[in-house]
Amino acid sequence: MKFIFVTGGVLSGLGKGITASSIGKLLQCRGLKVSAIKIDPYLNIDAGTMNPFEHGEVYVLDDGGEVDLDLGNYERFLDISMSRGHNITTGKVYQEVIDKERRGDYLGKTVQIIPHVTNEIKERITRLARESNSDVTIVELGGTVGDIESMPFLEAVRQLSVEVGREENCTFVHTTLVPILGSVGEQKTKPTQHSVKELMALGIKPDVIVGRSSDFLDDGIKTKISLFCDVSKEAVVSAPDARSIYEVPMILEKQGVADLVVRKMRLSPLSSNVDLSRWQDFLKRVIEPSREVTIALVGKYTELTDAYLSHMESLTHAGALEDCGVHIHFVDSDRLITEEPSKVLRNTHGILVPGGFGNRGVEGKIAAARYARENGIPFAGVCLGFQVATIEIARNVLGLEGANSTEFDPNAPHPIIDLMPEQKELESMGATMRLGSERVWVQEGSKAHSLYGSSEVWERHRHRFEVNPLYIDQLERGGWKFSGRCEEGRRMEIGELQNHPFFMATQFHPEFKSRPERPSPMHLGLVRASLERKESM
Ligand code: GLN
Repeated sequence: MKFIFVTGGVLSGLGKGITASSIGKLLQCRGLKVSAIKIDPYLNIDAGTMNPFEHGEVYVLDDGGEVDLDLGNYERFLDISMSRGHNITTGKVYQEVIDKERRGDYLGKTVQIIPHVTNEIKERITRLARESNSDVTIVELGGTVGDIESMPFLEAVRQLSVEVGREENCTFVHTTLVPILGSVGEQKTKPTQHSVKELMALGIKPDVIVGRSSDFLDDGIKTKISLFCDVSKEAVVSAPDARSIYEVPMILEKQGVADLVVRKMRLSPLSSNVDLSRWQDFLKRVIEPSREVTIALVGKYTELTDAYLSHMESLTHAGALEDCGVHIHFVDSDRLITEEPSKVLRNTHGILVPGGFGNRGVEGKIAAARYARENGIPFAGVCLGFQVATIEIARNVLGLEGANSTEFDPNAPHPIIDLMPEQKELESMGATMRLGSERVWVQEGSKAHSLYGSSEVWERHRHRFEVNPLYIDQLERGGWKFSGRCEEGRRMEIGELQNHPFFMATQFHPEFKSRPERPSPMHLGLVRASLERKESM
């Protein structure tokens, strides 16, 4: 078992997850099998209950795990499929320890952070590493060294490093901030020195230091960090501002980080020549596209764009395939109630309405769908976006006044969107949502089929409400065809409007399975149609 432990110092938001995923990518390009674990030291059991305003989007895995958005970065960079266990939180660990204590598993011992909590952490990490059968497991510790809540995790990985072999089987990568101060633009190493000192006080000596700065670290600064923090100079690495997150692997490769890790841990790469040409090709189309479109993302968490991270990435992937940069115009859906949609959405070539929960902002999203439908503007809706498109068509095409989702109006005269029957049952038992990957059958001859190129697809879900089966025939007669359905054909998964350049929406979340070289089909459809619209304007 070999591990790369990635810690963070000074402050959060240094792009630790991107650094970790990039190192993983570089090892993968050498033919090594890489897996990843993300540790979040908060007490929540998972990210399911977390507000996107505070933490960014809740990322959903195949197995229905609702996890930190960093797992999305690992899945996208490494093109792997992770499971809920790969996101370890304090809540999960403590719950397990307390359950064991109640069952009497500790045989009357006093249950303590060390060794009981730390053992639980180590067991989880080693179990995942073993099960994944990978050459290297990357373990990213969320939070900042020095936080009270990360202490048990740092202690656990310190112990683990000794147990598996500190020298040959572990690499500690510490990411820190190197700020640039004053008019002379001097790079400052003191925050790095302090955070490394803090890490060393916990018994962990970093092998690699990644210095986040707006620019590359000066040679003298590397020497200084090397000297003060006791790492070799080649192990002091720059992480300057990048034009795209997908550029980070290239930046790190040029500095030899992966080779250093390979040498240190005596890894046996399958290939000695590292082939990054496909990634490079993809990157070139991301940062220097020959065309551009603007797509409006109409949501209610638009102040924190991380709330829509997977959509942003999906549009980037789709754009890259078309050699087209996608400029995202974030629109707070409430604006579409007080202002003219034609004004707010002027200069945009397509509209995306993502998922969401709760009443606020819904009418604005319905207005966006209406504007797109009536004006032939390319439109894609996801989850709640699918539901609002359906409501809009029921109201304004079928003339069903007061049509709504029972999530927003429990007494709606036309409950077009309603709780799933089994959901009612589940909720009476305290369960929450339909989560994770399920099979969707796509109708041949439909637009969705031509985008997916298959009649059987697996997509991830996260919802409680669905299209009310009583209205399906009526909606289809109105031109809203359900070209994707789940298993027994009863649950509607994809809707597409006839007689419109591109108007499609899905109950599932295709953004979670979008990958750099395999964009989400619906996002791709939206980008293509938006480009066509722009070019014909
Ligand atoms: N609130 C809606 C539901 O529960 C949509 C959920 C979503 O967009 N993820 O069905």
